[in-house]
Amino acid sequence: MATDPAAAGGARVIDLSHPVGPGTQVFPGDTPPVVSPACTLAADGYNSVRLDLGSHTGTHADAPYHFLSDGPRLGDLPLELFTGPAVVVDATGLAPRTPIGPEAFGPWEDRLEPGAVVLVRTGWDRHYGTEAYYDHPYLSGAAARLLVARGVRTVGLDTLSPDETPYAGRGGEDWSAHLAVLGAGGTVVENLRGLAAADAPGARFCAFPLRLESGDGAPVRAVALLGDAS
Ligand SMILES: [Zn+2]
Repeated sequence: MATDPAAAGGARVIDLSHPVGPGTQVFPGDTPPVVSPACTLAADGYNSVRLDLGSHTGTHADAPYHFLSDGPRLGDLPLELFTGPAVVVDATGLAPRTPIGPEAFGPWEDRLEPGAVVLVRTGWDRHYGTEAYYDHPYLSGAAARLLVARGVRTVGLDTLSPDETPYAGRGGEDWSAHLAVLGAGGTVVENLRGLAAADAPGARFCAFPLRLESGDGAPVRAVALLGDAS
């Protein structure tokens, strides 16, 4: 049954998402997903489950309305925001809770432009599922404002948040990076994984959110398309 779509001339699809289930690591204070059977093959002739999950569960996208009462909701954003050429910025090797400043983006300067999807790769996804995951490096407000000034409106990270995550007395309530990107009408895609695989010439990023009417954020299936995506 298995066919290789790449061999058939299509793009290779690389998954950049964490699984969603009871083990999904959520933002401190948020509740993990609850998945319960709704219908079963034995009783109903088909399987379906009931999902109880926050709008910012797992790999997901934020809309401006997440932080701004008059900001656009997910459904108001152009779908073009959720796909574009992947610009993977290497920010690996940092100590816990290190701010990532504008200088980190220097080597990718000429690729920071409207339409680009900037993916900040900290490597922190290796801590996913542990307390160390909360202590991720984060974007400084100045770095986020630089991206916005260059026309970037889609920023993804392999961390819980672009800002420092408050946990166990560490970290504050500074949402500068969120506010810079969302305040410009952009989106932030959080909890990505395996971003090294998206660091390839011609790679295209896609992460379309559910069309939830609440619209402050929604889970995505984030992928990188490699090869001929035409
Ligand atoms: Zn979020």
